[in-house]
Amino acid sequence: MHQDIEEILISEDQLQAKIKHLGEQITQDYDGKNLLLLGTLKGAVPFIADLARAIHLPLELDYMAVASYGNSTQSSGIVRIVKDMEGPIEQKHVLIIEDIIDSGRTLHYLTDLLRRRNPLSLKVCSLLNKEHTRVQNVPVDYYGFTIPDKFVVGYGLDYAQLYRNLPYIGILKPSVYADDSK
Ligand code: 5GP
Repeated sequence: MHQDIEEILISEDQLQAKIKHLGEQITQDYDGKNLLLLGTLKGAVPFIADLARAIHLPLELDYMAVASYGNSTQSSGIVRIVKDMEGPIEQKHVLIIEDIIDSGRTLHYLTDLLRRRNPLSLKVCSLLNKEHTRVQNVPVDYYGFTIPDKFVVGYGLDYAQLYRNLPYIGILKPSVYADDSK
């Protein structure tokens, strides 16, 4: 285990088993449909890479980067598009692939924006769901795990751009934040 991690919340094996299951579900639900997986950069990259390979259908991949103003552990809801997706989505069934939904503000902004581009359908798949911190109600169609209100890192999720390459989801030691605020 990495020295800055207090506890492994979700192991690599648990992540991969859940992704296999989500892939089977999505494969069934989107059979015969024009599926576009839309990943949010940078956090959802490991998840979309593994999930796409667990979906046994023809599909397209695209990415959007949105920045949410706020401090390092909390989003404000004021969102800015840093990188937009490449093409029109009118003829596509879009499935947004997210790493985590916390307040729901980022996803609320994104679903609002994409709905105005008239996709054939728009759904959301999030690996992690912090249920008790929701400020904006956004329906999540597929999710991997509901987690407690703790700041987690790993498997795409960062703190100060680090820890994204850990193969599991872990809770950071509080001393890491304390060092940062000095
Ligand atoms: P929301 O707008 O739902 O409050 O926040 C969503 C974004 O906040 C996520 O895409 C992620 O970038 C960040 N975030 C929320 N909770 C956590 C967390 O526990 N760990 C990390 N690393 N990022 C988080």
